[in-house]
Amino acid sequence: MDLARFPRRRYTEAPTPIEHLPRLSAALGGPDVYVKRDDLLGLASGGNKTRKLEFLVADALAQGADALITTGAVQSNHCRLTLAAAVKEGVACHLVLEERVPGSYSEDASGNNLLYRLLGADSMTVVPAGTDLAGAMEEVAERVRSAGGTPYVIPGGGSNARGALGYAACAAEILGQTFDSGLALDHVVCASGSGGTHAGLVAGFHAGSAQIPLTGISVRAERTAQEEKLHALAGGVLELAGLPGDLPREKVVVRDEYVGPGYSLPTDEMTEAIQLFARTEGILLDPVYTGKAAAGLVGMIRQGELAAGEKVLFVHTGGAPALYAYPDAALKVVS
Ligand SMILES: *Cc1c(COP(=O)(O)O)cnc(C)c1O
Repeated sequence: MDLARFPRRRYTEAPTPIEHLPRLSAALGGPDVYVKRDDLLGLASGGNKTRKLEFLVADALAQGADALITTGAVQSNHCRLTLAAAVKEGVACHLVLEERVPGSYSEDASGNNLLYRLLGADSMTVVPAGTDLAGAMEEVAERVRSAGGTPYVIPGGGSNARGALGYAACAAEILGQTFDSGLALDHVVCASGSGGTHAGLVAGFHAGSAQIPLTGISVRAERTAQEEKLHALAGGVLELAGLPGDLPREKVVVRDEYVGPGYSLPTDEMTEAIQLFARTEGILLDPVYTGKAAAGLVGMIRQGELAAGEKVLFVHTGGAPALYAYPDAALKVVS
């Protein structure tokens, strides 16, 4: 995949490390677990949205935009990182925050909410669950236009084909690193939310002719709906890159049994996974995404789907600032 022809800003100096996790692997008694440290990407506190924003913000600037508009939940890592990119580029940033869990917005909340205020969002509009978010962002865009500005709208999670190029690039980075170090992976596991991460990885591995099985752990949607959405998005990534978009449907694999009662709502499996990573390897996961994705990884190991002798890569997509907004979920005593 020739990604060099796309405008791109660089927010991270070097490839993120792939680290072996011997103590976690021993505690689970299954495969050798490795982690792709995308929690160490650039911009304020890092995380997966930084890779998508490299392509999205470059496109915005190429189009002469002076204001970024995006949307997310009340504790959105994507909103925090879009805002950080806007600050760095010297453009304005407007956030539309969806109260996915009724009553979940609090002006004084910690975590990402504190960072929206510290980084200085130009406006924050809180809307109830189920709002037409594209419409709500268009209203903000219209306000920006009527004040003489040039807005650029980024969809939730940065998950359109252009944003997902960031994870096609990450797939290429993983293939390069594992080739250099002789690490033959048997499986890759990542979180699957708005889908740009998972779809970008699918597209990037496909374009690189890599046959490594990839499982996305859903944090919100039901399996079939998520797989269909991602299949279309991954095809769109390939087409944007000038490749045939006809991707075999079976390349998109989602598990949805770790969502629990719903998006951002805690589960004991999530809490256990957060404590396991923290207490064996000193790695911070988050309650909304990586905690549930890691619960999926642990579940697959305990069910014998990922076995001793195999090498599994967990893509750490970031999110640790949200820990400070969910202290009870992180510290709950689970057996
Ligand atoms: C947004 C997010 C995800 C999910 O990535 P998508 O590309 O939206 O599927 C995973 N982990 C963290 C920490 C996130 O902020």
